[in-house]
Amino acid sequence: MIRIRLILFIVSALSASAVFAAGGVVKSPTGVAPDRYVYYPGTEALKKDEIRLIACGTGLPAARRDQAATCFLAEVGNGDKFLFDVGTGSMTNVAALMIPYDFLDKVFLTHLHTDHWGDLATLWAGGWTAGRTKPLQVWGPVGATPEMGTAYAVEHFLKAYNWDATTRNFVLSAEPGKITVKEFDYKAVNAVVYEKNGVTIRSLPAIHAGDGPVSFILEYAGLKVVIGGDTFPNRWFIEYASNADLAIHETFLTPTDLVRLYGQSPAQAIGVGTQIHTSPQAFGKVMSTIKPRHAVGYHFFNEQSTHDHVLLGIRQVYSGPLSLAVDNMVWNISKDAIVERMIVSPDQAWAVNGPNKPPAPPAPGSVPDPISDFIKSGRWQPAEAAQAPMVDKFKKDNDLK
Ligand SMILES: [Zn+2]
Ligand SMILES: [Zn+2]
Repeated sequence: MIRIRLILFIVSALSASAVFAAGGVVKSPTGVAPDRYVYYPGTEALKKDEIRLIACGTGLPAARRDQAATCFLAEVGNGDKFLFDVGTGSMTNVAALMIPYDFLDKVFLTHLHTDHWGDLATLWAGGWTAGRTKPLQVWGPVGATPEMGTAYAVEHFLKAYNWDATTRNFVLSAEPGKITVKEFDYKAVNAVVYEKNGVTIRSLPAIHAGDGPVSFILEYAGLKVVIGGDTFPNRWFIEYASNADLAIHETFLTPTDLVRLYGQSPAQAIGVGTQIHTSPQAFGKVMSTIKPRHAVGYHFFNEQSTHDHVLLGIRQVYSGPLSLAVDNMVWNISKDAIVERMIVSPDQAWAVNGPNKPPAPPAPGSVPDPISDFIKSGRWQPAEAAQAPMVDKFKKDNDLK
């Protein structure tokens, strides 16, 4: 009995020092636990030389409630925040962090598959209605031709959402509804695409589905976090992601599980799972070669019936520190430690205002009214009458004319 306890103690001590935050001893029945297994958003200041990296989407294009599509949020100690991809469904996880939208204005896209930018619409319009005071900024690769690049995609995104923007422009400042795009060459290797306030972000080419996709390297305070986009393992990642503090790389479902669970044919599964994406064994080979302080695999529906298959494949080749990411996993990265926890956040989060004053709405008459006289003539007066006392009181209470 004593021997078993000793072994358990050694195992937990090892895992604590390697990665995981451990709960400490509760010394008093009225006290608090000295350490937490979870991160409650907004309750911890970030240290100057620290990075907080949050998985807001880790799944697949057919996003599901348990796992949205790709999105990672990097918060660095100087206060800057960077979204790497905003895949379908991921903004609900981002919103639950209750970060003012003004702090979420920088988006870096690895490529233009919907599972990596499908929720740009939610960030764009949602943030516009919920307190962002300035344009969104998007960084992304050029394409092999102009119409395969990020600038084309965003220009036509805004055209597709013309009705949305035109109707909002009547009641809201147009400024936060704008998107600026900074394109960069997807073939450039380890090229700086962003450098400000001690943060450097570089891009690497990736091998995935067509020309254009990239991976990113974020460096801050002597720390290096690599955010791998979709790719077959490539030599640029091997060369420049080496010695990363945290290295994120996709690892796909096994071909067997793609057939079993995703309804793919064997021919499709072997192509998708081992040629344009990274198999568990190939992921393991990448990580055992670059040897990060901590490796993160993502881009598969991570559940009881798939987790072990991916893990076993990786462990054939790589035995180092590893997380198989799910949504709301968070890593605090510093020189001293990499601490992994899960986020506990509200399902019913509200947007939180930032420090900037909201821009004034357009002056009456300055923007064409998008509602015609014909449509206005259909307003049903009994509804107006029913709400009139409430409207009058609200206006009186708030000094409105
Ligand atoms: Zn993709
Ligand atoms: Zn993808």
